[in-house]
Order: sequence, then C-alpha cells, then structure tokens
Amino acid sequence: MKKVLVLAMFIVASATAFAQQFTKEQQELIELSTQKWAWMSEKNADKLAELFHENAMFVHMGGSWGAKQEVDIIRGGMIWYKHADIHSQEVKFTDKNVATVYSNIHLTSEVGGHQVRFPFMVSEVYIRQKSKDWRLSSLIFTKLAEPDARFEPTLTFSNGIRMPQFGIGTYQMTNEQAKESVLTALRMGYRHIDTAHAYQDERGVGEAVKESGIPRQDLWITSKLWPSEYGEGKSAEAIDKMLERLQTDYIDLLYVHQPMGDFVGAWKDMEKAVRAGKVRALGISNFDANDSVFTRIMENCEIKPASLQIECHPYAQRLDIRKKAAEYGIQVECWFPLGGQMSQGALLKDPVIVEIAQRLKKSPAQVILRWHLQEGLSVIPGSRNPQHIMENAQIFDFALSDRDMLAIRNLNKEQRFFNMDYKQAEQFMLNWKIDD
Ligand code: NAD
Repeated sequence: MKKVLVLAMFIVASATAFAQQFTKEQQELIELSTQKWAWMSEKNADKLAELFHENAMFVHMGGSWGAKQEVDIIRGGMIWYKHADIHSQEVKFTDKNVATVYSNIHLTSEVGGHQVRFPFMVSEVYIRQKSKDWRLSSLIFTKLAEPDARFEPTLTFSNGIRMPQFGIGTYQMTNEQAKESVLTALRMGYRHIDTAHAYQDERGVGEAVKESGIPRQDLWITSKLWPSEYGEGKSAEAIDKMLERLQTDYIDLLYVHQPMGDFVGAWKDMEKAVRAGKVRALGISNFDANDSVFTRIMENCEIKPASLQIECHPYAQRLDIRKKAAEYGIQVECWFPLGGQMSQGALLKDPVIVEIAQRLKKSPAQVILRWHLQEGLSVIPGSRNPQHIMENAQIFDFALSDRDMLAIRNLNKEQRFFNMDYKQAEQFMLNWKIDD
C-alpha cells in the first residue's frame, strides 16, 4: 500500500497521519481513499469499478448517478481535474462495517492555460463486504465557499505580487533534513518555503519540491545571496547556481542576506535577474542593522525592495523599523518568530502566552504565530518535527481577540535573541565563505 501512495504521483497524500493517531482500521480506509484519488487522476476505470459497490451513488455538482454511469464517465476520460491535493482526512465508523471518510481536497484543472484550484469537502461511505474488502457505496462532493485558509492569507507586495503569508523556515538543517521537513510541510498544505545559500540546504529544498509533485506555480520559494557572492557580474553567476541547486527556473523572492560588502553590486544583478524572469521579487534581509545601510540600498536601487526580513516576535516587536518599512511600502517578514533556538523556549513559556493558549485550547506556538498573522506580518517558523510542522500550520481556525492581541503587544521589550553588533557581524560574515 505504501508503494501505491508513492506511485500516486498526482496526489499529495493526506498529512493527517502525522498529526492524529488513527486506528489501524481508520488508517486502512485513509489509504484506500487516497488510492482511490490516485486511480481517479489516472482514470483507472477498471480498478475503480472493482472498488465501487454495485449500488453506489455519486453526487457531484452536475447531478447524481450510479456506479455504472460513474465508471463510464471515467472510462470516457471525462474527469475534469488533473490532480487532487488531499489536505486533511477524518474517518468515522457508523458501525464496524460502515465508515465515512471525510476529505478536505483541492481539485486542480486547467482553464485557458491556467491552473485553477477548487476546494471541496468530499464524504465517501465505505461498506465492508463478507470478504472483508471495503466497497465505496456513496461519494458526495460539497463545494466549499471559502478556499482552504492555509493557502489564502497572502500579503501583496508593492509590485502587486502576492506572497503566502505563512511558510516554513529551513535554517540549521542539512540537505537531508530540509528535504524531509519541506516534503512533510508541503504534504500538510504549506506552500511557502524559506531557504538561503548560507543554510546550505537549497538542494534539499529543491528535491522536496520536485518529489512533492506540486506544480511550481503553486509554490513560493524564497532564498538569499550571501556576502561572498555580492558584486555586479558575480551575483548573476551566483543566482544561476542557486537556480540549479533549487532545480527551478525562478525564485519567487530573493534577498540580499546581510547588509555588508558590495550589496549594491549584488542588487544590480538581482534587478537584471528580475528582468530576465529568474526572480519575481527582491528583498533586504537584516537591513534593520543601521540607517545607513537602509538608506544606501534605497538610494541605489531601481527595483525597490518588496520585503524586509528581520528578527521579530512578541519580545522584540520591532516597532520602529516596521513603521519605517511601512512608509516605504515594504512588507515585513519575521525570522525567529518563536524566538529561535537561542531563546531556549522563553516565548513559549511566557505566562501571558501560556494563559491565552490554555484558554483557547491552542499551543503557545500557535498563539504566537497567530499574533504575527494578525499583525499583518509574514511568518516562517522553522521545524524538523512533523508534529510541530503540523501544529504551526493550524493557526487559521481561530482568532485572537483585540484584548489578547493587546496583551501580547504589551509583552514587547525590544529584546532580541540574536545580539551580535554590526561590526562583529560584519567581520564574521564577510569572512565566512560557503563551500558549495
Ligand atoms: P523559530 O523562531 O522559527 O524557532 C525554531 C525553533 O522552535 C526550533 O528550535 C524548533 O524546533 C522550535 N519549534 C518550532 N515549532 C515549534 C512548536 N510548535 N513548539 C515548540 N517548539 C517549536 O526560529 P528559526 O527557525 O531560526 O527562524 C525561522 C526561519 O527564519 C528560519 O528557519 C529561516 O528560514 C529564517 N531565518 C532567517 C534569518 C535571516 O538572517 N534572514 C535568520 C534566522 C532565521
């Protein structure tokens, strides 16, 4: 069965298995349903005919019909969608021989050369035969009015490009770890990945993207150039190598990682890359270091930075630089949203956050990340733990009240967890070369 899941190339298998403990029987039905979606995408009418109960009923948007008609439709190639992304599944048993699988899915079709995604809730009733095999006895499509919230919150850059507000960070991961974490995240519905040449895990990210089978245009990939690659001509080459490592034709958002060295020269090449279609938007990372670096980039750029990536969380809310970014029409993206490893979980243990989390039946991490969303910030928590990856994405089904938002705003003490001053950082970063 595992093999089938892997082979079901058009299917992004359900992520729920990571988050919930299914019984063996529930797991069996999840796998059967996932396999069914694979057969549907492949238009494998023979396998489906075996699976359908002879009295099965299918209720679609266009009408309802029986098993034979459904098989004819599949055989006739009239399945309109190209693939199905399963985002979450649940199984409920009515009795030991009757179970319903509820799936939250996106079906993607091509309309006028564009990929169009439709969200559905599908309920499938399975009945166990005397032979112990399950047969599908009804399938009902319900079109969801609202798209899956995980994809929807986007922030619009000054150049009109929309970036998913929430994503996964990949700092301090090996290529193998990044591949595994990103693939897990993509299967759970994440669509935004943050990497950097300096993390030395872009290859892992590229492999995960490829293996996920998700169309490239449905994903957002951010990466960053390191100071050793800065300089007109030199950065152009570095961008081409980056594309190779990521196995992609374009990067959605490219940052100058650090405000030191010849970042103006790098920016010139980054602008050329935008014009050549290799990059969609440009960003400045850590340009909160001092006014002079910020002014230098603003005075020397033709394409304005769309985004500023900085450390930002409830203990260091960065009010001044956020105000300045807003004045320049620059979106803010937060690193160390949970305080990073250096914080040793300080934010997660904060009594105000813990109290809100307990009251809302959410985790402290979810409350913190939700705070970022409601502040209008982009947020990219990093994790290698599948439970945390799932938990961090479950922040779209609740809201913090004005009062709770205020309580978290009041935690601000502008206390950063990364505290190297500019001179120290410059010395260290200009001397640090990346091998590959
Ligand atoms: P983070 O604040 O996202 O915290 C990560 C830490 O929290 C890890 O130790 C992780 O195991 C833990 N964690 C994650 N989810 C958790 C949960 N639900 N419960 C408990 N613990 C949890 O810090 P980060 O990953 O360093 O930063 C986020 C991303 O920002 C990075 O991965 C990277 O992509 C980016 N970043 C950019 C810069 C920059 O200079 N531009 C610097 C640092 C990080």
